[in-house]
Amino acid sequence: MKPSNGTFVYNRALPVEGDYDLVVAGGGPGGCGAAISAARLGARVLLVEAMGCLGGMGTSALVSAWSDTADGERMVVGGLVAELLEELHTRGCLKPGIHPDRWRKDLHSGVAFNPEGLKIVLDDYCARAGVEVRFFTRLIDVDQNNGKINGVIINNIEGNRYIRARAFVDGTGDAVLAGLCGVACREAGRDTPNIMAPTLCAALAGINADVFDSSKQQEAVFKAIEDGFFTQNDRHVPGLFVNSRTTTIMNAGHLFNTDALKCRSLSDAMAKGRQFAREYTAFFRKYLPGCEGAQLMVTGALLGVRESRRIKGEYELNYDDFTARREFPDQIAIYNKAIDIHVHDCSDEQWERYRNEYLSIDRPARGEHYGIPYGILVPAGGWTNLWVAGRCNSSDVKVHGALRDQPACYMMGQAAGTAAVQSLKTGQPACDLDMQTLVESLRKQGGMLPQKTLSRQMTRSAR
Ligand SMILES: Cc1cc2nc3c(=O)[nH]c(=O)nc-3n(C[C@H](O)[C@H](O)[C@H](O)COP(=O)(O)OP(=O)(O)OC[C@H]3O[C@@H](n4cnc5c(N)ncnc54)[C@H](O)[C@@H]3O)c2cc1C
Repeated sequence: MKPSNGTFVYNRALPVEGDYDLVVAGGGPGGCGAAISAARLGARVLLVEAMGCLGGMGTSALVSAWSDTADGERMVVGGLVAELLEELHTRGCLKPGIHPDRWRKDLHSGVAFNPEGLKIVLDDYCARAGVEVRFFTRLIDVDQNNGKINGVIINNIEGNRYIRARAFVDGTGDAVLAGLCGVACREAGRDTPNIMAPTLCAALAGINADVFDSSKQQEAVFKAIEDGFFTQNDRHVPGLFVNSRTTTIMNAGHLFNTDALKCRSLSDAMAKGRQFAREYTAFFRKYLPGCEGAQLMVTGALLGVRESRRIKGEYELNYDDFTARREFPDQIAIYNKAIDIHVHDCSDEQWERYRNEYLSIDRPARGEHYGIPYGILVPAGGWTNLWVAGRCNSSDVKVHGALRDQPACYMMGQAAGTAAVQSLKTGQPACDLDMQTLVESLRKQGGMLPQKTLSRQMTRSAR
């Protein structure tokens, strides 16, 4: 075997394993939601995760905060993610003294958590549900034909393996499995003019949470820019998310022009991100009371990727749906996060665009939400046993800026896992599942699904 014309063709016999009901690729919010929910419903589930822990961005990338979960009156998120929040609270993984209204009632409010705490909660939930988890294992290829996956190829320290299963969920965040299947996808920077920049988040110790006032951060950023403090004059600094009396997560430093689908670009961004983490730690120490003793403990093991590749699904959730607060008979969740597309560069125009968009009149008000229909989890083209869950869902670029948050990703995961089990039990394909049964099953699991009208049919985009 010799390389020719820039390619190298090889044949290898691989050990075959499995006969799982469901394989879930990726153990972030989408993948964990799918794996735990399907296993609780009795499926034999294998969850493969490239890193050494579950939680995805929330743990490996130190994006340890969940945004919007309530609408000013009550929770809009239900099911597994609501359970996880209460569990984190009970185990003392949220800031001591935090009032439960922050996630049960308050509008546009978020909670930061201890990432180590979430790792253990997810380990426990998977173990209790009977999910088989394989860490340090990457899904690398697929065996599929005519819209049906027969098996996937995984790689870990034991080499490559062929895993047979009856259903598959792509929870990789980057639509890795869907992409390998040849599913039509949208890629940031190629199908859309801009890429929302990633950030390498970090954990800081030595904070005095009783003194630190997050509402003073923006003013301090403006002052530091005026003083010529930063190497990049980025006004958009999400900042510190305090998760204990002395520690915080730091979300600061946009890595503009990073292409999250190119390894070289990701590698450069990690190195640059580590420099930013030092620079922003020094900024907080100098400019924010309560941060004088801040110490940079560690940066994320994963880059905080906001946007990469997402599928074109049976339905694409769009901006008109968002502004109309559309209810769908087949919605599998509701949500109320605003559109949150970060600045694309340091210009005045981008800062204005971001501020206007995020705080615009289109932002869901008290008591408002929009529906997330089932069809955004199923690739277009008649797929029988493939679903996606999480940020690789099918939505237009604006709505993606709202749906990418972790609570929504857990709910999409729960729906994908539940749909997979329904499909296995009934023989209904992913692209033609009975929606009424799915909605009723999600309601039984605590899903917040207020739609009055149900339908057996999926809502599809006109093509
Ligand atoms: C900087 C930043 C700040 C954010 N802030 C917030 C916030 O404040 N609140 C909020 O709620 N959300 C926030 N988000 C959004 C949120 O964290 C993500 O969009 C969300 O975690 C996506 O979930 P996911 O399951 O789709 O993917 P991910 O969380 O990316 O998880 C995917 C998992 O799949 C694994 N994986 C990837 N490829 C493979 C493969 N081939 N084989 C096996 N495993 C694989 C990865 O290791 C990872 O664990 C933020 C995101 C970023 C980047």
